[in-house]
Amino acid sequence: MTVPQVTLNDGVQIPQLGYGVWRVPNDEVVAPVLTALETGYRHIDTAAVYRNEEGVGEALKQSGITRDEVFVTSKLWNDKHKAADAREAIETTLTKLGLDHLDLYLIHWPATAKYGDDYIEAWDALQQFRAEGLTRSIGVSNFNPEHLDKLNGAVPSLNQVERHPSFNRAELFGELKARGIALEAWSPLGNQRDPSDLDLPAVKQVAEQTGLSPAQVIIRWHLQTGDIVIPKSVTPSRIAENFDVFGVELSAEQVELLSGLDAGNRQGGDPLTQA
Ligand code: NDP
Repeated sequence: MTVPQVTLNDGVQIPQLGYGVWRVPNDEVVAPVLTALETGYRHIDTAAVYRNEEGVGEALKQSGITRDEVFVTSKLWNDKHKAADAREAIETTLTKLGLDHLDLYLIHWPATAKYGDDYIEAWDALQQFRAEGLTRSIGVSNFNPEHLDKLNGAVPSLNQVERHPSFNRAELFGELKARGIALEAWSPLGNQRDPSDLDLPAVKQVAEQTGLSPAQVIIRWHLQTGDIVIPKSVTPSRIAENFDVFGVELSAEQVELLSGLDAGNRQGGDPLTQA
């Protein structure tokens, strides 16, 4: 199965469907990442704060897949925005992953509530890391337009933000598109919190119409609206299900129906308050 590639504004190509590992403990992460790689995923999303980079690195090693065939993202945590701390952080991340470079390094949160505008210093550090070849591309996560505006005219390749049908971020989506910044959707399935996007009647309706599962319907909606999408599962059957999404297309009407489900249903942190 060939996953479409998205070309970022710096020319780097990223597989549009990847695999996220938030809240998978380090000592449990090797098996599901190996399953994902065996299934065909070639894009793994981790972060220093997930504390599972060593396990992800072990799975990459055990898979035998060559370095240039897999796209690896990690993220700089909020208390490491000062230049010297950021350097130590990327070096630690690379050591834990057993890699000499990342494909994408993100500022995890602007974290202004606790660290003010330190994220601007972090952005300068990331630019330096890219120049040194420590990462092929650099981006941000959980940035609002006002945070992007403060990067001294620089344009990150990507912004990883919460997006799913009940929290579809239409305004931010349009804003990022206008700036040439790719949107990568975290908690793309809504993270299975209550109420779950998988249980929305319209999602179930499209599932029945297409023969897809509710999760597959939502992943197709992300792919067809242009997101990069990184669903997480530790369940082998779901890892396979979430990857098996390239045989059926949603109709324009079905995409529109799902795009109309926004309920402002934020499940995760808010960039304005997250410390
Ligand atoms: P998701 O929206 O990917 O949902 C994960 C949940 O859905 C798990 O409980 C999983 O269960 C369940 N699930 C997965 N597939 C299916 C399926 N086919 N049918 C039914 N249930 C399913 O949530 P995440 O919050 O994990 O987001 C994905 C990734 O995004 C993270 O892992 C992380 O990499 C990234 N992320 C980034 C953030 C940021 O601030 N930058 C914040 C949050 C996430 P199970 O595992 O038991 O199978």
